[in-house]
Amino acid sequence: MNFAGKTAVVTGGSRGLGRAVCLELAAGGANVALCYAGNEAAARETVAACEALGAKALAVRCNVAEAGEVKALMDAAVKTFGRIDILVNNAGITRDGLLMMMKEDDFDAVIDANLKGTFLCMKAAARQMVKQRYGRIVNLSSVVGLRGNAGQVNYAASKAGVIGMTKSLAKELAGRNITVNAVAPGFIGTDMTAAMPEAAKTAVLAAIPMGRMGAPEDVAKAVAFLAGDGAAYITGQVLAVDGGMAM
Ligand code: NDP
Repeated sequence: MNFAGKTAVVTGGSRGLGRAVCLELAAGGANVALCYAGNEAAARETVAACEALGAKALAVRCNVAEAGEVKALMDAAVKTFGRIDILVNNAGITRDGLLMMMKEDDFDAVIDANLKGTFLCMKAAARQMVKQRYGRIVNLSSVVGLRGNAGQVNYAASKAGVIGMTKSLAKELAGRNITVNAVAPGFIGTDMTAAMPEAAKTAVLAAIPMGRMGAPEDVAKAVAFLAGDGAAYITGQVLAVDGGMAM
């Protein structure tokens, strides 16, 4: 993929899928502004890895659920690199539990980070993209947002909501040369899935037609496709990257 001269903002770029996305875009020549919630050491590692690929990179601590911090992130990207061509809304959390046991705080925290965070980042970046008359927004949803999952009503609501926002904003911005798409990963090897109980992992693996979990790079390549010029006429779509789970 060729992203020379392009600037990408990637939320949650310190670890997991976000780091793989940063590296995929950096390998194509993009400048990368990534944010992280608190893990500064990991964010620095991503920056160093992007730089080792010959790209310029910047890490900003930013809670995506806070409008002021999101504005500061986008301002830093524009100040450093001059524009925002690509936004990847990847930052996300889980706070699993069966509905009858789920605390209100756990519902709110997941909606704030995953859904409101995506809203705030899209809103802040869209202003810049409209000025440029160019933009590519890719949102991380999940197979759970498509199919639901016991123990994840909060997470499923946030990820289904991301799909609704993706399609709505795609319609709002289609005439401005800005595409908005989502990727719905299945079961990918990161810290998020490492935290799952063994019995749950075994059950999920049994539901994957390809019989294995995915790698962060599998998702990063799909994100890069939707962020690239080859996807110029694709908007409002949800691309499942899940070994066949959601079909
Ligand atoms: P990880 O838990 O490995 O990493 C989460 C990343 O998000 C970290 O960089 C973390 O920063 C950052 N983050 C968390 N909360 C915030 C916040 N409020 N503000 C800014 N950054 C934040 O997650 P994954 O890589 O596994 O998942 C990435 C995305 O993909 C998520 O949206 C997830 O829901 C989605 N997804 C993942 C799947 C999987 O199987 N792994 C499947 C389907 C979807 P820090 O390092 O500072 O904590």
